[in-house]
Amino acid sequence: MTANDRWEPVQRLRTYEQVMAQIEQRILDGRLKAGDHLPSERELAVSLGVSRPSLRESLRVLEALGVVEIRRGGEGGAVLVQTPGSGMVNLLKLQIALSQFSWTDVLETRLALETWSVEEAAYRSTEDDHRELAAILDRMDDPSIDAPEFNSLDAAFHMRIAESTGNALTAHFMGSLRTAIHRQMVEMYAELEDWRRTATTVRREHREILDLIVRKDGKTAARAVHAHISDFYKIGAIDGVDAPG
Ligand SMILES: [Zn+2]
Repeated sequence: MTANDRWEPVQRLRTYEQVMAQIEQRILDGRLKAGDHLPSERELAVSLGVSRPSLRESLRVLEALGVVEIRRGGEGGAVLVQTPGSGMVNLLKLQIALSQFSWTDVLETRLALETWSVEEAAYRSTEDDHRELAAILDRMDDPSIDAPEFNSLDAAFHMRIAESTGNALTAHFMGSLRTAIHRQMVEMYAELEDWRRTATTVRREHREILDLIVRKDGKTAARAVHAHISDFYKIGAIDGVDAPG
């Protein structure tokens, strides 16, 4: 072996990684914050010493990641995003589709997030939250409702509970996870022999969970949502939890 064999190639960061690192540094040291406009494409390309096409490509990557929003027109340009968008959902959807995470991973993560959310919601939620949660359940009671609509409202109910904890990250993460598995959930409902019978059980369990939240019985509410979610997986999956739900 010659000395040359021990040389490691220099790791070359891609342009977008360098642009991202510089933006991150500026956010950390307070020179940039959410809502700020980045300099114009022309200025930024010169400052960073990159070509305009490769800067544009970097900005598109940052846009897909939900870091910047590219606005067109007069006040156009790249703006640092304040509220979380669909970046995480889109990524998670593909990762789940690629089976990078198993359904058991999804179920266990959901159970952890949902039981925490329901218990905290019992202590932190307001009367407005209760009213809005009840309104979602009222809409789910509509006898003419179809399976996809029922499923969307089901997701909305669980999301709204997470939001009422006041923890935006948990709510966002739960929403992303739920949106990512939405298609599979709808398919699973469609495969149920009698989805309306399942829907009756789901309705009753939701009312019970909401009632426990209103009564501030966090521990019982957490147990109820745990049973609600794991039962649904058991109904939908013949072989344990190895199926969407
Ligand atoms: Zn539910």
